[in-house]
Amino acid sequence: MKYIGAHVSASGGVENAPVNARNIGATAFALFTKNQRQWIAAPLTEKSIAKFKENCEKFGYTAQQILPHDSYLINLGSPDEDGLAKSRNAFIDEMERCQQLGLKYLNFHPGSHLNKMSESECIKVIAESINIAIDKTKDVVAVIENTAGQGSNVGYRFEHLAQIIEQVDDKERIGVCIDTCHAFVGGYDLHTREGFEKSFEEFANVVGFDYLCGMHLNDAKKELGSRVDRHDSLGKGSLGIDTFKWIMQDSRFDGIPLILETPDDTIWAEEIQMLREI
Ligand SMILES: [Zn+2]
Ligand SMILES: [Zn+2]
Repeated sequence: MKYIGAHVSASGGVENAPVNARNIGATAFALFTKNQRQWIAAPLTEKSIAKFKENCEKFGYTAQQILPHDSYLINLGSPDEDGLAKSRNAFIDEMERCQQLGLKYLNFHPGSHLNKMSESECIKVIAESINIAIDKTKDVVAVIENTAGQGSNVGYRFEHLAQIIEQVDDKERIGVCIDTCHAFVGGYDLHTREGFEKSFEEFANVVGFDYLCGMHLNDAKKELGSRVDRHDSLGKGSLGIDTFKWIMQDSRFDGIPLILETPDDTIWAEEIQMLREI
């Protein structure tokens, strides 16, 4: 069973996200539980929480089909003391919001070293941040997303994800999400059948499919290994439609949210329908 959806708007309140997902025929969705460009957000109201849960139940979305994404401001690997403290607090707040909404996952980008420390030092700080957040919250699984490796972002190699997992104490509460655009521009050739098989074999060996909690399905505007993060609509970029066909026909991607973050939201319903048909 494939759960397919998109990162829908939660504008006007989180309770609108499941409605927006239903309107595009999605069986999965992603959302921000607060404004992703601001540090501080008002707490979720009881009313909003109840309505969110009610809408999810009404439209058939269980926690396993929902992949909330954290704010873009958070850097859990920050070399800067104040920035790190701020990020850790904001991340705990995000975890708590997910918990309040009855959600299982929180998807986030690992972090950036800002050219002030090595990748492995940054990874150590990220793992420590995750350990702190897990300790202070309940149930929610921290889902690390692979990155495009733009700027000083870590997480563009499967090894980075594995090194973070290795240093996280509670393995029940850590998972990963693979973004196809990020993987491709990060150097994994998902465009050819051979490259696709080889990349996911590598993923299986380095990280393991047991940790896979979700996928972001995006085509890429830039080239293999360019480390430039520009998403494209399915079939319109450097990956091409076959990559998504292989994912849809592969049972290793069953039972997890498969989320579009493609730029043209007016064709999400079509993209979802197309994925379902292949
Ligand atoms: Zn992301
Ligand atoms: Zn993504």
